[in-house]
Amino acid sequence: MKNLREFTLTRLQEEIKNLGIPKYRAEQIFISVHRKHAKDINSITGIPKELAAELSAHFYIEPLTLITKTTSKDNTQKFLFETTDAKKGKVKIESVLIREEERGTVCVSTQAGCNVGCEFCATGKMGLLRNLTPGEIVSQVYDINTITGIMPTNLVFMGMGEPFLNYESVIESLKILTDKKGFALPSKRITVSTIGFVNRIKKFADDISENETLSNVKLALSLHTTDNGLREKLIPVSKSHKLPKIYEELVYFYRKTGNKVTYEYIYFEGLNDTDNDVNRLARLSRMIPSNINIIPFHPVDFDLAEPLKTLNKKIHDKIKDSKENSLLNSENLYDFIDRLRNERVTVNLRSSSGVDINAACGQLAVRN
Ligand code: SF4
Repeated sequence: MKNLREFTLTRLQEEIKNLGIPKYRAEQIFISVHRKHAKDINSITGIPKELAAELSAHFYIEPLTLITKTTSKDNTQKFLFETTDAKKGKVKIESVLIREEERGTVCVSTQAGCNVGCEFCATGKMGLLRNLTPGEIVSQVYDINTITGIMPTNLVFMGMGEPFLNYESVIESLKILTDKKGFALPSKRITVSTIGFVNRIKKFADDISENETLSNVKLALSLHTTDNGLREKLIPVSKSHKLPKIYEELVYFYRKTGNKVTYEYIYFEGLNDTDNDVNRLARLSRMIPSNINIIPFHPVDFDLAEPLKTLNKKIHDKIKDSKENSLLNSENLYDFIDRLRNERVTVNLRSSSGVDINAACGQLAVRN
């Protein structure tokens, strides 16, 4: 049995053809599954009952099982789902919906857990349970729409897992979500975020530029520091994926796709905000068109090695009784941003949406 949410239109046409069913039926099924979010085979519209019965012998559609839904003070929602893939077995994952005026951004997970082991990340402490299938990735988007009634306008691949370590499923899910006959999300509204793996950024650039519906997908590099030594402490795998090589691939990405790159930069007060950091970031921002998203460091509730241990405690203490989001009440943070802007670096300060419900960057770990 195969999950019907799993297939791109091209692959579904092959599956249907192999069963001796007329090819035009694939498009009808695809529209029902991905545009109308049919919940089971019998909800597929416009096909005869006999065909539905035949499909049921080979395929299934099964939404994710919602275990809990938590809403933060700022209206961010976190969803704890259990996946239902018939072959691979059940795992729990988390997804987040961030609501801002006209926008509803879904942060999807690509793996259950993660084995990259970034020092600051709760997901990394879980280890990797398994990769998610394309069906499980797209289901997060459709099921959040069904549960909340909110149509996602933007999508970020920044939930649990490293997208480039589940590469094929991520590419398949992007093809499904952007297909004009299905969910039809414009690719410019999608961002894929990576820690940075040698040869992967280049391949990603080649793959999306060859596919018209994917050509505007944005790339975000989780940079966090331009200092190789500190980066190796924060992201141990970066020892084998050094920044100079990653920078080369970013230049290739820009030349191939014409798409700007975003640098995600967790603000570790006192560690990555020196004048040398500002100078290196200014040089980097002149390399290719780019912007830097500064993200406050979200406290975690597991043991950290220094230099993050002391900082984690300080931030925990700071937000404990706060009514406001005190992660954004740091003079040093604004001073760092001013120094970058003085160097004409394009900087955005990202809010800490969902920090009080452990839904913010680095906090997802299926604890509810
Ligand atoms: S930050 Fe991303 S890559 Fe690093 S451990 Fe967490 S989920 Fe994995």
